[in-house]
Amino acid sequence: MNMSEKVLNEKYEVVVIGGGPSGMTLANLLGKYGVKTLVLEQNKHTVLEPRAVSIDDESLRTMQAIGLHEKVKSFCALDYGSVYYGVDAKPFAKIEPTASEYGYPRRNAFSQPDLEATLREGATRYESVDVRFGHVVTHFTQDDNEVFITVLAEGQTYDVRADYLAAADGGRSFTRTSLGVPLEGLTYGQKWLIIDIKGTKDTFRQTRVYCNPKRHWN
Ligand SMILES: Cc1cc2nc3c(=O)[nH]c(=O)nc-3n(C[C@H](O)[C@H](O)[C@H](O)COP(=O)(O)OP(=O)(O)OC[C@H]3O[C@@H](n4cnc5c(N)ncnc54)[C@H](O)[C@@H]3O)c2cc1C
Repeated sequence: MNMSEKVLNEKYEVVVIGGGPSGMTLANLLGKYGVKTLVLEQNKHTVLEPRAVSIDDESLRTMQAIGLHEKVKSFCALDYGSVYYGVDAKPFAKIEPTASEYGYPRRNAFSQPDLEATLREGATRYESVDVRFGHVVTHFTQDDNEVFITVLAEGQTYDVRADYLAAADGGRSFTRTSLGVPLEGLTYGQKWLIIDIKGTKDTFRQTRVYCNPKRHWN
């Protein structure tokens, strides 16, 4: 986008910070209802590395609400469970949910890069939705009527106004910290290592969890 062509102080009904799964899903939902929406994402493109691995039935129903369920299902491994193994390497518990109250299995494996690309493509269906990658929100203020948002792109700043600012800017949310809102909830203290395996020949479709009480560390 040529920044010199930008009109300062554009006004939107909703500005969404963050073009991850939450922000882009919201953009599709708002687009469906014709809400004038601007998504601002600091990265130049949707994520390329694998991150989230499991999408549940409620989320698939949300994909259905925005008409993207068939596409999303095409890159999901629907309906998988977990098998838990003890120190003797024998299975001692299984979780294999069978309910599908929302019309989809409860546990489904997926790839976040595919989901994000699908949501980004989906948002192009709506004239009321403007998505800008490479645009970082640096500041915002609000009065009783609207929110004033400062954006940095291509080395220049510009301002937009909105009736609502939606924070979909992730776990380290700039919006949350700017507002001084504490992050509530529980997390694990330990560091985790995630290894993604490409081209495995193991066709076992459940998650295997190996449990060994001697190997936990604090
Ligand atoms: C390295 C890594 C590995 C992960 N592995 C797993 C996993 O194995 N399994 C699993 O279930 N989950 C995993 N996750 C978590 C999963 O990716 C998140 O739950 C999911 O991405 C959350 O989606 P979101 O849209 O809420 O936030 P995010 O995906 O974090 O999206 C927020 C977006 O906001 C943008 N943003 C932030 N601040 C600004 C700003 N000021 N202006 C403009 N844009 C801004 C960010 O660039 C980002 O794209 C992992 C996450 C990471 C980072």
